[in-house]
Amino acid sequence: MAMNLREQFSTDKVIASKLIGLDSKDKVQAEYIWIDGSGEHLRSKTRTLTKSPKTPGDLPVWNFDGSSTNQAKGADSDVFLQPVAIYPDPFRLGPHILVLCETLDNKMQPHKTNYRRRCAQVMEQVKNEHPWFGMEQEYTLLDVDGHPFGWPKNGFPGPQGPYYCGVGANKVYGRDVVEAHYRACLYAGVNISGTNAEVMPGQWEYQVGPCEGIEMGDQLWVSRFLLHRVAEEFGVIATLDPKPIQGDWNGAGCHTNVSTEKMRNPGGYKEIISAIEKLSKSHAEHIAYYDPTGGKDNERRLTGLHETACISKFSYGVASRCSSIRIPRQTEVDGYGYYEDRRPSSNCDPYCVTEAIMRTTSLDIKKLSRTYTPQDLEKFRNLMSQQGEKPKIEE
Ligand code: ADP
Ligand code: MN
Ligand code: MN
Ligand code: MN
Repeated sequence: MAMNLREQFSTDKVIASKLIGLDSKDKVQAEYIWIDGSGEHLRSKTRTLTKSPKTPGDLPVWNFDGSSTNQAKGADSDVFLQPVAIYPDPFRLGPHILVLCETLDNKMQPHKTNYRRRCAQVMEQVKNEHPWFGMEQEYTLLDVDGHPFGWPKNGFPGPQGPYYCGVGANKVYGRDVVEAHYRACLYAGVNISGTNAEVMPGQWEYQVGPCEGIEMGDQLWVSRFLLHRVAEEFGVIATLDPKPIQGDWNGAGCHTNVSTEKMRNPGGYKEIISAIEKLSKSHAEHIAYYDPTGGKDNERRLTGLHETACISKFSYGVASRCSSIRIPRQTEVDGYGYYEDRRPSSNCDPYCVTEAIMRTTSLDIKKLSRTYTPQDLEKFRNLMSQQGEKPKIEE
């Protein structure tokens, strides 16, 4: 009888769990994790330690073959791994740990794909403002053949409507992955604050935060590692592509909620408006920082449809889910609170996003170095009209 792909390639979890339960004899397995040259994908490898480290400084600097991760040339391939944060490992349990790392080049300087270092410097400069962030990570589950998980193999599920926050075997697909990932985050000490099924079937969201300063990027990256790792365990794929399915299906974002101490206190509303006004003057720059391709990925998602605002125009509004920035109704009612930047794509680098926001709103840097130029806008416009959608593009 023909086996489906998942059965064909799956290993025996019962045998695996017997061996993973064996005593590790006072040795600690440390899983070093880093962001590769794509700016989107994670890599990791394991080493044995003879004692448990208390701080990242107790851990050895390590290295990897950067020519295999698009981070170096073959003739000078060593890229260094500098441990920056430690988390309990929910897979190996016990004394074993996950180690988030920065990448360093052959002169031990931050590698050009290492956006954490600059983010950490900016967060240090603005630390007296106590910036908090909460990021809403949306993602889509795919079968190992790349088809959306739970969708009929020869067609489409019914139109969007019943799936968001749904319950029932005909409404949500892959809840085991979501539940397992949630617990894995809690075990690892990631500040996961909630989860929900999304508008497109097979699409989900979880939130991390509020986190202060550099913690936001660190925790979101570790939560993503756990997501991919848990999905692997179930033989499915979690993709962060911002528009995995073309057509009348929602894309995936990473809404970023922001507040400073002043915004969180009575009278904070005017601080929020002042920050939003600064953001309105650097829309194209921010778009360039909100996905790993300088805005190209977000062109597929920020269409003005499916609860998004058009990529080419800045807008904001109270309770508006079709604006670039939304002020929650409660924040308006209270006169303080936070705002939500809805533009970052699901595959954004949280270090780039949170850094750009603080540079523009707190350091009053008017021009960020990157900017978005809509090169593919014409192509995108044609694509949209072929699909019978009417893009609201204003230039
Ligand atoms: P939405 O209504 O947009 O779906 P969610 O409930 O999914 O919102 O996410 C809200 C996020 O905002 C959470 O991650 C939460 O931690 C974060 N958050 C709450 N209060 C603040 C605050 N004062 N500053 C920054 N982030 C906050
Ligand atoms: Mn949400
Ligand atoms: Mn959502
Ligand atoms: Mn949101």
